[in-house]
Amino acid sequence: MMDDPTIGVIGSGTMGTGIAQVFATSGRRVVLQDVDAAQLERAEAAIGRSLGKLVEKGRLEKGVADAARANLTTTTDFEALAPADFVVEAIFENLEAKRKIFTRLDELCRPQAILGSNTSSISITALAAATGRPEQVIGMHFMNPVPLMKLVEVIRGLATSDETTQATLKLCSDLGKTPVEVNDYPGFVANRILMPMINEAIFALMEGVGTKEAIDTIMKLGMNHPMGPLTLADFIGLDICLNIMEVLHRELGDPRYRPSPLLRKMVAAGRLGRKSGRGFYDYARS
Ligand code: NAD
Repeated sequence: MMDDPTIGVIGSGTMGTGIAQVFATSGRRVVLQDVDAAQLERAEAAIGRSLGKLVEKGRLEKGVADAARANLTTTTDFEALAPADFVVEAIFENLEAKRKIFTRLDELCRPQAILGSNTSSISITALAAATGRPEQVIGMHFMNPVPLMKLVEVIRGLATSDETTQATLKLCSDLGKTPVEVNDYPGFVANRILMPMINEAIFALMEGVGTKEAIDTIMKLGMNHPMGPLTLADFIGLDICLNIMEVLHRELGDPRYRPSPLLRKMVAAGRLGRKSGRGFYDYARS
């Protein structure tokens, strides 16, 4: 891969916006593509605000922030991704939609381009199989909020080559992130361990082992976690937590991954956490 790759980012939601920002800040040209023009405008404004805040706090030089703004192009045109040497897909979590994107990217992009996905729970191997270049498909699982979180879980699909993996690890290091290489199994490492912990906290709440405040305080102070698991579940979104537990349960086939009935009930009630104003805690007035 070239030394100064052009980066394509597909999907300008929570994650795509952050991913585009960190690449643009590291001096890469970034083409941020979305099907929704209004969302692209919001993303560009959010990046502008975030860069401004980082400059205010003295964490970023003004010149770098200005260069980052200049490095970023937004577009609804999929074809505009053609010059990208490295693409990170960050559309909503849906296998069929993502497979379609990977097939189209394979047709559009140069033969040497690497195709990455920020998926939390979809098989990288399955996405790779939608292309004619499975050795150049890789998972790049950034954490939210992307500009602040150091980790990138780099996931090798069954066919991902050493060259692709090395280039991806280097690209993440160049961003100032800490990449960690793992293999493609359901939930990878981060969600394989995090989600069952959250699910267990919900079982404990359901069984009346402790109040939500008790469970969160024990995990926060006892394990030195920055926030308790129920607070974290509200932050992530309970629908997302349920979806990932369902993936673990279905694909690993072990009853220990069964989603808590209380988690299902909360999602059925529309209590999805922060984003809906109520989850385990009430956010209506905050
Ligand atoms: P989001 O819903 O905030 O954004 C998705 C964006 O994709 C939207 O702007 C939508 O318009 C766009 N989109 C949908 N279909 C498209 C298409 N065909 N082509 C181009 N753009 C399209 O989602 P998000 O929270 O940013 O998550 C994106 C991905 O990142 C998912 O795979 C998710 O699992 C993963 N992820 C999310 C988090 C998180 O905390 N939110 C963390 C790690 C990984």
